[in-house]
Amino acid sequence: MKVHEYQAKQIFAEFGVPVPKGRVARDADEARAIAQELGGKVVVKAQIHAGGRGKGGGVKLANSPEEAAQRFSEISGMQLVTHQTGPQGQRVKTVLIEEQMPIERELYLAVLIDGAAGRPVMMASAAGGMEIEEVAARTPEAIHRVTVDAVTGFQPHHARELAFALDLTGPLMKPATQLMSALYAAFVAKDASLAEINPLVVTSDGRVLALDAKMNFDDNALFRHPEVEALRDKDEEDPSEVEASEKGISNFIKLDGNIGCLVNGAGLAMATMDSIKFAGGEPANFLDIATANDVNKVVDALKIIARDPNVKAILVNIFGGMARVDVIAQGIIEAQRQMPTAIPVVARLAGTNVEEGERLIRESGLPVIRADDLGDAAKKAVEAARAA
Ligand code: GDP
Ligand code: MN
Repeated sequence: MKVHEYQAKQIFAEFGVPVPKGRVARDADEARAIAQELGGKVVVKAQIHAGGRGKGGGVKLANSPEEAAQRFSEISGMQLVTHQTGPQGQRVKTVLIEEQMPIERELYLAVLIDGAAGRPVMMASAAGGMEIEEVAARTPEAIHRVTVDAVTGFQPHHARELAFALDLTGPLMKPATQLMSALYAAFVAKDASLAEINPLVVTSDGRVLALDAKMNFDDNALFRHPEVEALRDKDEEDPSEVEASEKGISNFIKLDGNIGCLVNGAGLAMATMDSIKFAGGEPANFLDIATANDVNKVVDALKIIARDPNVKAILVNIFGGMARVDVIAQGIIEAQRQMPTAIPVVARLAGTNVEEGERLIRESGLPVIRADDLGDAAKKAVEAARAA
């Protein structure tokens, strides 16, 4: 799960990571009032769940309260296009007003999980403000990393090593190392998957603070953090993914192809997508109903898939282990009765109660295309999507 910059900054502040003063404005008058409180010179910042806002025109300086009100009106409601939003952009519904900082240096600092090492890693670079992917591609030596042992935690020597690498020495050493420890503490305490500051700035008056803030959270740990869950902004998420999670379908990912996939188990989902690609097609999504033994859940899942206008065929690939094939079959039949569509359904069913499931489908008289194995199912789904 992602949150907005202003929300990540609130969490940072709780853990002692210094951030500029500021708050969200609801309208232009409030933007003017906040700018007044902050001494007149502010930054007006669009809050969307995507980076690159500065280049897209979503971050603007204002040198008076009046100008802050004007910038607010320009940014609020705009369709902000960045390299992370796609060409259609994202509508700006929330705007943050912050005090301007006298920036001397822009750095990069982040904590994330190193999947290969299976450990948290703190990454830092003196080339802040830019896309870190670009820095990594062009000058990988400019990125410094310390891998942390999750049991012993982030140590003072880790912080000093990174501070030296960033040339945060002399009077900057103490605030910089404190900030790093605080960032690591926030990352661990909130079960984050990413805590990123780009740019981390050094000001001309010798302060080190987070000018931008990004936090992503591990969805599987959200049950322990209702205060994080409460920060969810559904306007920023894909509507079908939101609906799926509300219906208890936790693994639904929208993709760009035209074959909808109803599958049980993440491994089977991966194999199904590979098979579709191997047969020359492209999956439209990844929907894993896990061990659901519930007709309604199958119906909900098929409805979510069918609602995507890109979907030209649906591939149901179920291996009944914990799930029973006859229940899945009833779901397929019920879904087709509730919303008769012209979208062809290819079913590859195997496992528990498969004979009963196949019989139910046969006797329903519905035009479900049977497949014998995964390769056959993928081939038939690709053919059906092409013919549509
Ligand atoms: P992003 O483009 O979505 O990553 O948004 P950021 O919050 O990183 O802001 C983009 C850029 O705006 C920063 O890299 C800074 O150069 C600039 N900026 C943001 N806040 C201030 C500020 O207080 N003072 C000045 N001078 N520049 C700022
Ligand atoms: Mn940034």
